[in-house]
Amino acid sequence: MPSAGPPKRAQRPDRSQPEAEDEALLDPTSTKCRICAGDTRAAGTRHGALAGRDFQIRQCPSCWFSFVADPWLDYGAIYDEDYYRGRGADPLTDYVDEAANPHRTVRRFEWRGILKQVHGLGIVGASTTWLDYGCGAGGLVQFLHQYGLPSAVGFEQSWSLDRLHERGVSVLSEEELAERAGTFDVVSAIEVIEHVVDPLAELARMRALLKPGGLLFLTTGNAKPYRGDVANWRYLIPEIHVSVFEPETLALALETAGFEPSFPGYGPGWVDIIRFKMLKNARRRYSYPFDELVPWPLVARLADKRWGFSAHPVGRVPAAPAEPVTATAAVAAAEEASPAEPAPGE
Ligand SMILES: [Zn+2]
Repeated sequence: MPSAGPPKRAQRPDRSQPEAEDEALLDPTSTKCRICAGDTRAAGTRHGALAGRDFQIRQCPSCWFSFVADPWLDYGAIYDEDYYRGRGADPLTDYVDEAANPHRTVRRFEWRGILKQVHGLGIVGASTTWLDYGCGAGGLVQFLHQYGLPSAVGFEQSWSLDRLHERGVSVLSEEELAERAGTFDVVSAIEVIEHVVDPLAELARMRALLKPGGLLFLTTGNAKPYRGDVANWRYLIPEIHVSVFEPETLALALETAGFEPSFPGYGPGWVDIIRFKMLKNARRRYSYPFDELVPWPLVARLADKRWGFSAHPVGRVPAAPAEPVTATAAVAAAEEASPAEPAPGE
């Protein structure tokens, strides 16, 4: 069969309206691209140590989305206590310890960098409503509270949720989240989108939570440097990181979900975000005074040139269009503003 060429937009399900969302639209065993609906090709296999089996990786030659074609869907088994304690699929992350030791963990560089970066995009003030979508053990939410955003809340599912309630972290249930549709200035999704099998549905859900003009700030690995060998990319842990993006892929996904994507590039927060990533990958859990001797602005800039962390887009919800003023409405408004003077002699 000849190559189908670039997929037509009409082939993609419309995810820009939450009510158009249909769980049945995505078949997790389909080999069609989950972003542009085009044909994909086999891109090798990757062994999952936790699952004890190989996973099929597929890649879209049209939009360069890559994904695990036969994902492990037993989320209760993947995202259990071991996962959040760094004993599961991702041994480099112990969310429970990070939230318990916020001043010692290297994660605080990431939290600080996210706040700086979003602030640099011109959207953070004391009254900013911020949702951390997929908040893990709630470390970023606690950090934002500490730095003057008392209304920051998280959303999380799975094992972590009861622990968040126990520790008094502001976290919304599914029901509460639905009630807050259209109320957030900022939604952050930090290392979240790579975990989901249907990224368009998840992005549409995030979009519905934002106000007109609101900002989605997300981080995820940049697959572009690994285009030729994505199955062997270290970031692609096949039990948990099932959807990986190049920056243009993510922009297409954002646009399809109803956002206006843009590429702010390397801003003021990235030094800290990258500093965290490098310390984490060096298996460092806590920071020490001698870390300050590292010239982080230079090191982070070089790392960013190599791996393109900051190349991903952000998504903005289009501002609400001004209400068109019809002649009838304008006349009615004018009459209300200045009632007609009674005619003389009446
Ligand atoms: Zn595609």
